[in-house]
Amino acid sequence: MVAAKDSYSPYSNGITVSPLTNSVINLDQGDPVVFEPYWKKRSDEYTTVIKGNDLMSYMSDPNDVCWFMLPETKYAIKRIHSLVGNAETEDKHIVVGAGSSQLFLAALFALCPSDSSQPINVVSQAPYYSEYQDQIGFLGSRLFQWGGDAALYDKNDPYIEVVCSPNNPDGIIQEPVVKSEAKGKLIHDLAYYWPHYTPITHKVDHDVSLFTFSKCTGHAGSRVGMRERWEKLRAAIGQSNIFTAANYPKAYCNFTNESSQTYPGFAWLKSDEGIEDAKSYLGKLNVLVREGNRFSAGQNYVRVTMLGPDDVFNELLARLSNAKRL
Ligand code: PMP
Repeated sequence: MVAAKDSYSPYSNGITVSPLTNSVINLDQGDPVVFEPYWKKRSDEYTTVIKGNDLMSYMSDPNDVCWFMLPETKYAIKRIHSLVGNAETEDKHIVVGAGSSQLFLAALFALCPSDSSQPINVVSQAPYYSEYQDQIGFLGSRLFQWGGDAALYDKNDPYIEVVCSPNNPDGIIQEPVVKSEAKGKLIHDLAYYWPHYTPITHKVDHDVSLFTFSKCTGHAGSRVGMRERWEKLRAAIGQSNIFTAANYPKAYCNFTNESSQTYPGFAWLKSDEGIEDAKSYLGKLNVLVREGNRFSAGQNYVRVTMLGPDDVFNELLARLSNAKRL
């Protein structure tokens, strides 16, 4: 039976009927379509018109390091950081790109020594965002190479450490961890340092900080609360006792003026002791997720996106709350 979307509830006395029943639900990627209903309601207010004669020159501001960026864009970026209080922008250069993935590679290129005979090692504390390793691998640069878990880095060679905070996949607030005496440079990936994911405790003031509109406003294609979903997810996994999710400490958020905890864009789930391969277990429930090994963690971990559309998220809740030992 197929129920109308509006009448569907994952907690309807154990009766789980939904248009997605029996279909595969893909929660592997972090596509932030969760924000779509919010923007749909406001689409008239925020429609942008680009006229045929707009944006003709390569140069928007020849005096700026990022000469192709419109001065209005720079102003808006500074304004949002100042309003939220999550980053110092005075005396900083603002550089935009097609998403922070492009900027990550640009930052690596900029930080690499030009005179080195061997590629510099790029490391990040495990579990780390799987795309760091993948992107470096795809590019096959002679300037930099993937160096693995930053906590295990003990070579005497220079390195670049990527500090992702709150971390993807597990939502932990992180600091640099490399212990080596060698010379290191830092890239801070702050994709999730926005008040809908975590308390804003201070203005970061690093040499290189990466932010992205894809996680701030949800505009991943052009290059807002989460909290409710986390409460529902914890209730669903509590019903079946097969998975556990980490608990996050509370902190005072300078933006909301409230004490709150981190609500990451991904759930980092650990399976119960009897279930060694968490991805295969969820595969049997037709739920696609990203396996712990991709983040240098064990097979008993999986990363599940919390940023998908409502109907897919509700279907996940129904399958998790009804899950039994298979
Ligand atoms: N860093 C982290 C930690 C991410 O989770 C993501 C997106 N999943 C990115 C960077 C890339 O973001 P963008 O869409 O801007 O390329």
